[in-house]
Amino acid sequence: MKKVLIAGTGFSGAVVARQLALKGYDVTIYEKRSTIAGNMYDELQDNVVVQIYGPHIFHTSSKKVMDFLEPYVEWFDYKHTVKGYIDGKLVPIPFNLTSLETLFDEEKSTYIKKILIEEIGLNKKVPIMQLKRHQDKVIREFGDYVFEKVFYHYTCKQWGMEPKDLAPGVMERVPVSVSYEDCYFPNDTYHVMPKGGFTPIFEKMLNHPNIKVNLNTNILDVLTFKEDGTYYKGEKFDGDIIYTGCIDELFNYQFGKLPYRTLDFKFETHNIPSFQEVSVVNYPNTEDYTRISEFSKFTCEEQEKTVIVKEYPRAHTLNDIPYYPIEIEPNINEYKKYLELANKYPNLHLLGRLANYQYINMDKAILNALELVEKL
Ligand code: UDP
Repeated sequence: MKKVLIAGTGFSGAVVARQLALKGYDVTIYEKRSTIAGNMYDELQDNVVVQIYGPHIFHTSSKKVMDFLEPYVEWFDYKHTVKGYIDGKLVPIPFNLTSLETLFDEEKSTYIKKILIEEIGLNKKVPIMQLKRHQDKVIREFGDYVFEKVFYHYTCKQWGMEPKDLAPGVMERVPVSVSYEDCYFPNDTYHVMPKGGFTPIFEKMLNHPNIKVNLNTNILDVLTFKEDGTYYKGEKFDGDIIYTGCIDELFNYQFGKLPYRTLDFKFETHNIPSFQEVSVVNYPNTEDYTRISEFSKFTCEEQEKTVIVKEYPRAHTLNDIPYYPIEIEPNINEYKKYLELANKYPNLHLLGRLANYQYINMDKAILNALELVEKL
């Protein structure tokens, strides 16, 4: 049996583990935490599935991903809607025609809507920066308004920097919509959530006689990188190693610590069935937190009590959980130094948000993992 080592039990590690186990590999996984599933870990509290590492909503257009997950999950349909608290009102995010009509008087909103439909097109979506640069003055002014009310302050809070300094792809995740569609992920074909939460998916994927999971163990305690290759528990190891942790930690921060954003979560249980109108309410302009998520809304099952979480973003230090890589040029250059080092070890494979230093969604993480298995 070919032996393979994997670091991490998030989607990247768990998918590779499962697929290689099915192919007859002997898979040993190291997981630093006492729980599996990485930041997807969730658990039942007061009858509510609570996502301990913040809200995760499943959406994809990839049939390949859906087909892969099918044996491990029972889905239910779930349409994710988000509202933003703007000037004392709750309006749909992505900002759409309902948001426009809620925040502007009838005459003004009718006028802007007419021009948006003429210039952009009904049912079209457009990145906010494109609106701000549009040739039409009315659209530019509308873009400036939405930028100020929805994007500017939220982005400063979330990333600790001005939107102009961020990669454009970050804000493009949430385009402005010239429609009444209020789904948060309008571009995706599948909008589903797992019955009973995400953790059972990981339990099923990792439950295979060829997979051994070591919890509370850092793979870096048993793995060494030397000039002539990789060593496992003191002996030369030429088998495949799939690493899904932070790449800077892997190489002992020798080129410096890569920057990430972390989050402080404040969980609250309220003795009421419903706390807010929709699953997630964003607070772009007020409050120190960016958003409040209400977990029972993700499962569409109201209980006597409800659990919510507020997210407070801040700079990541060594003891914090790295949630978001910050993909800007100096950081990517630093990442490339680590990558160059990693490439010296042909049996080392980097996978996932942290090892690839990429702000990706779970479907992309699964696709990347499946592709790596095909390559191997
Ligand atoms: N964003 C914003 N205002 C909002 C929602 C999103 O400015 O009300 C920007 C912000 O920069 C954020 C990015 O869009 O980081 C992506 O938002 P998304 O909801 O996809 O973030 P995630 O759920 O991954 O934290």
